[in-house]
Amino acid sequence: MNRILRLSDEVIGKIAAGEVVERPSAAVKELVENSLDAGASAVTVEIRGGGADYLRVTDNGSGIPAQDIRMAFERHATSKLVTAQQLASVATLGFRGEALASIAAVARVTCTTRTAGNETGIRAVNEGGQLLSVSEAACPEGTSFVVRDLFFNAPVRLKFLKKPGTEAGYVADVMMRMILSRPDVSFRLISDGKTVYHSAGDGKLESAVFAIYGSEMLRSMRKVEGNENGLVLKGYVGIGESGRSSRSNQSFFINGRYLRSPLLSSAVEEACRERVMIGKYPACVLHITMPYEQVDVNVHPNKLEVRFANEAGVSSAVENLVRDAIRDRDALERPVPMILTEEAAPKAPSVVTKDREAAPVAQVQRVFREEASPKAVLAEAEAAQQPAEEKAPIPIVRSDAPQAETAARTVALREEPAAWQAAAPLAAEQEPMPFLKEEKKPMKIIGTAFNTYILIEYENQLLMVDQHAVHERLLFDEMMRRYDTQSAGQQLLFPLLVSVTRREQQVLEENRESLERIGFSVEPFGEAEVSVHSVPMVMGEPQTKAFLHEVLDQLAEGRAYTAEKRRSAILQTACKHAVKGGEALSEDVLRDLVTRMVEQRVTPTCPHGRPLVVSLTRTELDKKFRRIQ
Ligand code: ADP
Ligand code: MG
Repeated sequence: MNRILRLSDEVIGKIAAGEVVERPSAAVKELVENSLDAGASAVTVEIRGGGADYLRVTDNGSGIPAQDIRMAFERHATSKLVTAQQLASVATLGFRGEALASIAAVARVTCTTRTAGNETGIRAVNEGGQLLSVSEAACPEGTSFVVRDLFFNAPVRLKFLKKPGTEAGYVADVMMRMILSRPDVSFRLISDGKTVYHSAGDGKLESAVFAIYGSEMLRSMRKVEGNENGLVLKGYVGIGESGRSSRSNQSFFINGRYLRSPLLSSAVEEACRERVMIGKYPACVLHITMPYEQVDVNVHPNKLEVRFANEAGVSSAVENLVRDAIRDRDALERPVPMILTEEAAPKAPSVVTKDREAAPVAQVQRVFREEASPKAVLAEAEAAQQPAEEKAPIPIVRSDAPQAETAARTVALREEPAAWQAAAPLAAEQEPMPFLKEEKKPMKIIGTAFNTYILIEYENQLLMVDQHAVHERLLFDEMMRRYDTQSAGQQLLFPLLVSVTRREQQVLEENRESLERIGFSVEPFGEAEVSVHSVPMVMGEPQTKAFLHEVLDQLAEGRAYTAEKRRSAILQTACKHAVKGGEALSEDVLRDLVTRMVEQRVTPTCPHGRPLVVSLTRTELDKKFRRIQ
């Protein structure tokens, strides 16, 4: 048996380091959080080689007093923890006083820092947990941490790192959430010399969303704002074209903190159903403010999971507020615009991982970002936060930007910093287009193209309406309405005898109430039969035997006959009965479809989420034909 020995500080340090900094993105997160704790209004993160070779976090915060610099690198040393009682809340915020110690234990760290009012700053060098030197240094106010050769003395950790591009993507994910959570702070992320993100820090969430997603996406997102059930919800939701193939572009912030929550995701998805295509997820950036005692954040700081005291209340509040935000007056309010004259097609992403599954969000989403528009230039903040030796301006380039052109535009914008504000994408807040507001504008039905798209001249637009999608929407809505109003069931003139198995009989007994709720009234009748006195109406048709068996089957499997089930049954029927694309329709039928679409104020997508109306403006056509520039 070996004797029990105390582990050396070095070993303890490395073990703890592995928990706190398992990859460069975790180190970035810790350092940026420190910058925010220090009251910084501008934070620059620069990485090389995905962050493992080099990472720098520079802020314009309070700085670290010379007498504290040694302590800062000590384990369990913090300026933030005051009493033991605060520990519970403190733990969730990640104040554990071990980030710097952990990072320094497995890297070569240089900290340059100066506090306000001090003429000179200090430079401290710590390698592998050893404080090698502390000296005077000339540096701007604030703090800069440079971390080189992360895991140089932890080969196992090093081996677990992914390719630099992937690690850079994880860092970008962290920065994306930082930017979206703190619109009041100007963040900049530079990876291998290129600016990936640069947020304005003007306090507007809109500007933060712009910095991440670009103007095209922002324009297509809907603003959400309101309160219900004791929570305040603010942010943006992307429906229609901005639907994404995974949930990774859903960001929720609860009381300012980024958290994942399946509950919130489903609430948003429920609200946006039929407004994104099947298989797509709405993108969103949503800030929820609510009393702290209503939220239970898992104490493990990396799990980012959350529980609510009142789950149903939170879920329905979010669903209702989002649904309100995306409601349109009618199908013509925001037709999907067709753009013919885009100057440059979106650039391919500079880095795309083959493995989409494992690929970090930020990397993947670059695919969707539009062509660079370097608007978020904050020359002043920039100058303030660049360390003296690094003051040479780095051109502001979205990583997917055509380089030369962008540099030129950057210069122009720098001369006139107000330019980006004027050009700021306020579109998301614009009044919806004034279609059919009060008086009805004349609509000229031109005909159909390919027996599929109804062409309409309407105001200054050429509208294209998918005949199948519209009919499907109209049928679906009508069936849902009819079902809802007739759910009490249709009394039968003569009771209907249906034979049932013993198992079915049992299920029937146990679920009498829920059967009645959907319109079945059923009595036992002898050994192997039941008598049915009333049946539910679905789409105007009385539902009898087959439907009863189907419902009993579902109940037997422990599943309720849910609203979702009902919806999908109706959807299938609607789809089956709708006129098809390619079917020639008479002018009367076309006119009827369009009129009903407008008058019934239908949701502007078919029940599967495909758009009903695409619009081509006269201006677009005129530009294409070079009538105007
Ligand atoms: P914690 O953040 O839990 O206090 P850290 O190890 O992350 O622990 O940091 C230790 C201490 O170093 C902090 O409490 C703070 O006083 C100081 N510090 C770290 N980074 C900065 C910074 N960027 N600006 C000012 N002070 C900092
Ligand atoms: Mg910290």
